[in-house]
Amino acid sequence: MRLSAAWRRLEALTRPVHPEAREALARRWDALPEGARTPAQTLGRHTPGCEGTHGVFPRCNLACTPCYHSRDANRVAVSGEHTRMQVEAQMGLLRRVRGPQAHAQLIGGEVSLLSPDDHAATLQIMRSHGREPMSMTHGDFDEEYLRALVLGPDGSPRLRRVSFAAHFDMLMFGRRGIERPADEASLNPYRRRFTAMFARLRREHGVRSFLAHNMTVTPRNLDQVAGVVRECSGYGFGMFSFQPAAFVGDERRWHDDYGDTTGDEVWARIEEGVGARLPYRVLQHGDDRCNRAVYGFYVGRRYHPFLDDECPADVRARDVFFRHLAGIRFSGTPLPLLAAKLLRVAARRPVVLTEAAALAARLVRRAGIRRLLVHRVRPVSFVMHSFMDAAEVAPAWAAMQRGEDCDDPRLRATQERLRACFYSMAHPETGELVPACVQHSVLDPAENAALRRLLPLTPVAAARRRG
Ligand code: SF4
Repeated sequence: MRLSAAWRRLEALTRPVHPEAREALARRWDALPEGARTPAQTLGRHTPGCEGTHGVFPRCNLACTPCYHSRDANRVAVSGEHTRMQVEAQMGLLRRVRGPQAHAQLIGGEVSLLSPDDHAATLQIMRSHGREPMSMTHGDFDEEYLRALVLGPDGSPRLRRVSFAAHFDMLMFGRRGIERPADEASLNPYRRRFTAMFARLRREHGVRSFLAHNMTVTPRNLDQVAGVVRECSGYGFGMFSFQPAAFVGDERRWHDDYGDTTGDEVWARIEEGVGARLPYRVLQHGDDRCNRAVYGFYVGRRYHPFLDDECPADVRARDVFFRHLAGIRFSGTPLPLLAAKLLRVAARRPVVLTEAAALAARLVRRAGIRRLLVHRVRPVSFVMHSFMDAAEVAPAWAAMQRGEDCDDPRLRATQERLRACFYSMAHPETGELVPACVQHSVLDPAENAALRRLLPLTPVAAARRRG
């Protein structure tokens, strides 16, 4: 009797895909617009999409141009208690609607304005809801802060792994030591300093990290994208994410004609920096107009995507993955458990093994055995996320709320993108999930105005005066 209970527990634990995750994926797939249900689509097959917090710590102590947050964001005091309560409620709703596993960004304002203890507690809350959290920062914090976040009072790690996305570009003002960067290259020592802190943490305390590099792109720094990729690809970032600027958020921070920078231009500059074609169509993340992503690895200075859309065998490998492995949680799953899940699939579907072996052989051939013996393999992905302008999101969303499809081609395209949105934010007070574009374009101003009353800065200002 006891044996069969243990067997059932083991069976449930090693089940490749959690049944609730499978149901949540199916719901997302069914809700996708017809045009987004392509053989390359990951949304609703492998992932429910990405998630982010909102209204949990709106304030920031740097100034970006553009800034996606409303003008009241910097008038809201940071409160760890508010952050923890809100994150708990938002993650609870995401867990109920989107299933037990997802990547979620702890995003506001600036995450390092939270005390290390509040920051650590918030990450734990996100994990307790099955979310793999990533803290979004401008990267201008000290090593002491990072250590206080990751290590407990006795000096041993309280977090075994952390993920950070650090925003570095010359359009941000107020970074300590380089208040107004002259160009992108002048920020490289700061980028290097950031990743070095995490390398030391790994060496000295065994804490693993995943680091992403975020960069807004406007006509001012478009020509420097290739240089950033070339120079910084070896710094230790596992992802480079680029955001062509949009007219959203605080209009006082709109300094250029952002419509002049197209996604194709930005992608071409990323490819120039990588020195290789980046075949983003082999995997689709929601709508191609919103997201492009390529996963691959460097061997020395040469970059190799894992999948090439012009290679039929690679496309077949992708299809086998979607058929038999989609929905398995790869990141955050302990290796022995992940191996057990994969073995269960392989035992029933040997084609998974043969396709994986054939893909591995192709990758070794492309990278070259001699180069593989000489150089370290460094996995790096390249991503582009193109927010939409508030002027289009607002009317398109209002029409969707009324159950109407827009006739205007631009607004119709906006609605298609919103329906295939990859990046959701939760509203526990209504039970609604909204695209991040809608959050920043439509909902942020009223939300931050209310937060300003709930968490006024006044006590801080008064304390400063007293001091
Ligand atoms: S947040 Fe906006 S740009 Fe991003 S995936 Fe969703 S709809 Fe597209």
